[in-house]
Amino acid sequence: MKFHVLTLFPEMIEQGLAPSIIGRAVEKNILSLNAVNIRDFSVEKHSKVDDYTYGGGAGMLIQAQPVYDAWKSVAGDRKVRTVYVTPQGKPFTQKMAREFARETELIFLCGHYEGIDQRVLDETVTDYVSIGDYVLTGGELPAMVMIDAIARLVPGVLGNDASAEDESFFNDLLEYPQYSRPEVWHDKKVPDVLLSGNHKNIVAWRLDQAKEKTQRVRPDLYAKYQQKQELIRKLSKQKRNNIHLMESLSRGLGEILFMRGEEVIIQDDDAATTFLYTEDKRMSEVMQAALPPQASLILANNQELSEQLQEQGWHLIGACSQYLYTAKEPLPVKYKNIRQLTLDDLEYVNKHYRYEEREYLARRIWAGLMFGAYDGDRLVGFIGVHGEGSGGMLYVDREYRRQGIAESLEAYLLNRCIERGWIPYGHVMEGNEASELLQEKMGLYKASKKLYWLDRQQ
Ligand code: SAM
Repeated sequence: MKFHVLTLFPEMIEQGLAPSIIGRAVEKNILSLNAVNIRDFSVEKHSKVDDYTYGGGAGMLIQAQPVYDAWKSVAGDRKVRTVYVTPQGKPFTQKMAREFARETELIFLCGHYEGIDQRVLDETVTDYVSIGDYVLTGGELPAMVMIDAIARLVPGVLGNDASAEDESFFNDLLEYPQYSRPEVWHDKKVPDVLLSGNHKNIVAWRLDQAKEKTQRVRPDLYAKYQQKQELIRKLSKQKRNNIHLMESLSRGLGEILFMRGEEVIIQDDDAATTFLYTEDKRMSEVMQAALPPQASLILANNQELSEQLQEQGWHLIGACSQYLYTAKEPLPVKYKNIRQLTLDDLEYVNKHYRYEEREYLARRIWAGLMFGAYDGDRLVGFIGVHGEGSGGMLYVDREYRRQGIAESLEAYLLNRCIERGWIPYGHVMEGNEASELLQEKMGLYKASKKLYWLDRQQ
């Protein structure tokens, strides 16, 4: 990921970010950071870049020409997403950070004085973003705040773990309190449950603490959390058919975009998936109007809806059966040499599982949700959890098939999901009998209704 920052104070950016985790990621070539001095592009005497504002008013404004030339020196004729950091922009959020982290290159434009001539903003900026409702003297700190939040979501920057997944704002709840050694400090003891080794109790305690804290500190977020819980309860009356929606909400992946009577739209921006739910019928005009314009991949919950979408130009990728595993007990894993994949395994995985989005599998590995079967040190098969929540991507090398490795990989995946408090589920495309048999053998239940995947391409 490449960050360019157009600024009057490049040393602030370089010095501010160099000593941190970001600096280390730059050294490891996972990120690059390019601070461009707008002043270097001044054509005026003494490298002047600012002037009075037309129409009067206090303070000076950065002129269009040096900003444009600085921007052009980076973007050239390419279309590079360009963020102007400004108190007049959309408030920066974790969700936005996740969206920006999917780009391969970003330009940040930092203002100073009273800001920047509107004409150059109109020609270069794609996103106006603020870090809060207060005014700072310059855009360098906001740009650094955003770069920090975005960079740590880029695969490899934080290391090979799932730490970014559990954090505050991930599931509309603030993070629970945490403790480290010593066990007693200032007569305050670490809560017993955290020392108990009982994973289930620890998860339940953390959830309670997170709920209590969110309700107290951020009632707005808590209201959102409660709304989701209510919808999950409603959907659970048809758990087998609706598990994809319930898990999307409970794992903190999807947001409720629309809910009216028996119609629901859940949008998962990270997985670029739009879940549509209607009660065995076509969608109403109101629901249609609520379809997000950026929708590119739809999972529809019934055939009538799927047909309606096709009439509107959507392309049916396929119908699938949904399977879920509701037992809480872990399954036996016969093949012993299975472990979480690391980014070192990326090449093998990319070779055997094709996905349009370039970084998709890197993200799945980095999320800690891809697992591999090894023969010694050699990777011979894998499985994982898709961005939208379903299990899949099962692959085993030809010469290692018929040895129970696929079954072991699936059991391993189900166990990891159960540990996280999830209900594992998967989709089997129509006609894949081998996979249907495997699901049934593993003890998964089949939903009575089919689901329909649709996309925009023909
Ligand atoms: N006159 C501008 C206004 O009222 O919006 C404020 C200019 S401010 C003094 C100078 C620069 O600091 C801005 O151009 C912007 O780049 C940056 N800045 C200040 N506060 C910010 C905030 N809350 N979020 C993002 N950038 C900010």
